[in-house]
Amino acid sequence: MALKNDCFALPSGVSWTPVDDALADLRDRLSPVTPVETLPLGTGQGRVLAQDIPAPISLPPADNAAVDGYALAHTSLTPEGEQHLALREGRAVAGAPFDGMVGNGEAVRILTGAVMPDGTDSVVMDEDVERDGNAIRFGSGLKPGANSRKAGEDIRAGNIALPAGTRLGPAELARLASIGIASLPVHAPLRVAIFSTGDELAEPGEPLLSGQIYDANRAMLLALAKAQGVEAIDHGRIPDRPAAIASALGAASRAADVVIVSGGASGGDEDHVSRELSRMGAMALWRIAMKPGRPLALGQIDGVPVFGLPGNPVAAFVCFLIFARPALQRLAGAAWPEPVGYPLTAKFSAKKKPGRTELLRARADGTGGVEKFRSDGSGLIGGLVWSDGLVMLDHARGPVEEGETVCFLPYAGFGLT
Ligand code: AMP
Ligand code: MG
Repeated sequence: MALKNDCFALPSGVSWTPVDDALADLRDRLSPVTPVETLPLGTGQGRVLAQDIPAPISLPPADNAAVDGYALAHTSLTPEGEQHLALREGRAVAGAPFDGMVGNGEAVRILTGAVMPDGTDSVVMDEDVERDGNAIRFGSGLKPGANSRKAGEDIRAGNIALPAGTRLGPAELARLASIGIASLPVHAPLRVAIFSTGDELAEPGEPLLSGQIYDANRAMLLALAKAQGVEAIDHGRIPDRPAAIASALGAASRAADVVIVSGGASGGDEDHVSRELSRMGAMALWRIAMKPGRPLALGQIDGVPVFGLPGNPVAAFVCFLIFARPALQRLAGAAWPEPVGYPLTAKFSAKKKPGRTELLRARADGTGGVEKFRSDGSGLIGGLVWSDGLVMLDHARGPVEEGETVCFLPYAGFGLT
């Protein structure tokens, strides 16, 4: 399903858009673009469900024992004193139910996972029982239903086991397997083409000429994209020439469902990405009130969304996590992910102007505190390596004093390790 070409247009005359507004806009305008296919359960890892999956059975399918012991009817017991029950011959084992009815005053041997025999509702566990030939003895106080698992306590037949948009990991695959689902309606992987722009960029492994720097963003963005469970496609390094950028944008938009470009997006003399994007399809420069981050160029070419990220690696990293990541998840058919954050105590102070969101490279100290990287506002890749998350200072807040509570977003919450 192609996006409308003006889907990223912003109202004209608006100056700096708050992060939350920009995210709400993106969220409203994006929808899944990948086709749906059916896969066997065993190959579903990492895929996104394309339909709600109702449970065809209840789980557990029948009441069953949670421990090894003796199954009985709770009505056989007296409130006080020692309990004596006659032991039936035979037993109930997982996979081989007891065949027969257990009467009042009787008990039958049962092992964990065995279906509760007819007439029983509770299990007294081995550790509490004295066996005495064909009888068992134990103390009073067993609760009704004790040590038994109820049919449907995990899920009931007909309820939604997993909703459309769920990304399938080990737990989700276990849930589907447990209710007997063998084939899965899933989205095809989202194809994301990624290239870097800049005359100054050299390829790692090649000699560095005067004035050059190595292309750090491409390796970073390919890895960031892969961590989102999408298919990341390397479209190389493109010089700052309009024709080269136009042809790279064209090739990438034909090869992929989404394009991510770094550099050249902010409207300066050598910023050909935004210009070529406007010429080839549609483009809006989103001036987002966020630090780090410069304008984001959002556009489409023949319905394929293009994200123009800042060239500065730190800004590209943060813009990817905050904007491109939820967008990719949504385009891939997954639910829009909210960032995972929790409150920690600032072990630092920081200047902060109300009126923009700031994201600091930060590290949790493991005892409830969080530190920030020694140098903020800089483009140091070392700060990305040092940090294990971002402190997010929201739009309205002012400076941070040491000891105040701040919101920490661990990289793990963005799917990174
Ligand atoms: P730009 O957004 O193209 O103006 O680039 C902003 C800054 O980021 C400049 O200092 C660029 O040299 C640097 N930069 C751009 N692309 C990359 C890249 N792929 N790897 C490392 N640094 C980059
Ligand atoms: Mg550049």
